[in-house]
Amino acid sequence: MQDQPLAQALADTVAPNQKSIEKIAHENNKLHKRLCRQVGQAIGDFNMIEDGDKVMVCLSGGKDSYALLDILMTLRERAPINFEIVAVNLDQKQPNFPDHILPAYLEKLGVAYHIENQDTYSIVKRLIPEGKTTCSLCSRLRRGILYRVATELGATKVALGHHRDDIMETFFLNMFFGGKLKSMPAKLQSDDGKQIVIRPLAYVKEADLIRYAEVKQFPIIPCDLCGSQENLQRKQIKGMLREWEKKFPGRVDNVFASLSTVAPSHLMDRNLFGFTGLKASGIADPNGDIAFDDDPCSTPASANVASIIPLHAVD
Ligand code: SF4
Repeated sequence: MQDQPLAQALADTVAPNQKSIEKIAHENNKLHKRLCRQVGQAIGDFNMIEDGDKVMVCLSGGKDSYALLDILMTLRERAPINFEIVAVNLDQKQPNFPDHILPAYLEKLGVAYHIENQDTYSIVKRLIPEGKTTCSLCSRLRRGILYRVATELGATKVALGHHRDDIMETFFLNMFFGGKLKSMPAKLQSDDGKQIVIRPLAYVKEADLIRYAEVKQFPIIPCDLCGSQENLQRKQIKGMLREWEKKFPGRVDNVFASLSTVAPSHLMDRNLFGFTGLKASGIADPNGDIAFDDDPCSTPASANVASIIPLHAVD
């Protein structure tokens, strides 16, 4: 029989471990639920998947597309509608691409899949001079091939694994370096007009996908096999957003929310709002006019004031 102090010492060492295992399991469960909720929300908000759809999930071997496939498969089990999933990987014949990993993973998962073999790597290497960025030609080729494959497979939707951070980074890249207010659409029509492209991870933070990939132990295939350098401008934007998250909690969330709350009449695109034809209607709009306010943050307050004090009383 164990003496009392030894038994106590063993209990002390076992108990905290057990507790931390339970805590981790609880956190992992919460993470899975959050991902399902956010993906379900994005699908619902943008009507991404409809009854009878065949969804082609583009699988690169990176954490994002693995998570996309995993969550879509979970949601398909629970969905009140029927839709098919087919996973597609484009093997671009990059040096040292481990072409056994994805088929083995997909077989185990029991999902329909197709591996498309196309040597875009050689084409890109041949056409782009050494030292120049290869990504733009590479992605154009990849896009064309994937749309063709989608048509051949009879897919009605093409699902991509871009997430909330990708959308934010693209938004700032376009603004800072392209002078445009645009990001990555959550849903769009493919170039050839034959499919709808969807981004069901649009509401999901990259940090959650990193964690989820660890939890699920996805067999990640490195994304730098082509030898291309990371886009420096994107890297800069990523750093800026990370810094904001740390220094100004809530700022990035607000910017992201603003992408869904656009007021064309309060921007300057004459194609989006008929400024040139604007005439006084004679009808008061308590939420519309902040022309004499200095601080845009005072909008809610001024709206309240306007609802308390009739506009004609303000001189
Ligand atoms: S990183 Fe490599 S594989 Fe990816 S788009 Fe650029 S060139 Fe293509």
